[in-house]
Amino acid sequence: MTSPSDPELRARALEALLIGKGLITEAAIDDRITLFNQRVGPMNGSRVVARAWADAAFKAELLLDATAAIAPYQFVGGQVDKLVVVENTPEVHNVVVCTLCSCYPLAVMGLPPKWYKDPAYRSRVVREPREVLAEFGLMLNPDREVRVWDSSAEVRYMVLPMMPQRLAAADEATRIAAIHRDALIGVVEV
Ligand code: FE
Repeated sequence: MTSPSDPELRARALEALLIGKGLITEAAIDDRITLFNQRVGPMNGSRVVARAWADAAFKAELLLDATAAIAPYQFVGGQVDKLVVVENTPEVHNVVVCTLCSCYPLAVMGLPPKWYKDPAYRSRVVREPREVLAEFGLMLNPDREVRVWDSSAEVRYMVLPMMPQRLAAADEATRIAAIHRDALIGVVEV
């Protein structure tokens, strides 16, 4: 039997304490976990991107005011009060960071990956974005401009990646499945 990790032990101790003090119920914790597993996550952002690829009017609305454009979806999770979607083109590649901490549009992208909160990513992607992107496996053409967007508590960004040729004839579900979270941050392409 392997012993549980340190954070796991701490989480269990905290959970037992909170339940013991009557501050939270086990059912409430389960509800929260189900919410994050099934309803909050990058699949929401992927749905938005796939729709923008197929629906020019929606895409225009999304680029103009992303918060308003996604409102009808009623995504839960918050942090999209001022969401800005930036579009990748053959001339421009966009990448998102929060240099200060880890601001991230939870409702469309879920919880940020660990590296997004890493001081190395946060400081380096601003100074040497091409090098950092190359480390993610994304080699950008030297004449393609790179724009780095700094998310904050006020404005949070999501990238609208380009649709690759291989998905031109694919149905929506296939497209959604192909759009990885990292493409919404802009460290990879689809
Ligand atoms: Fe932040």
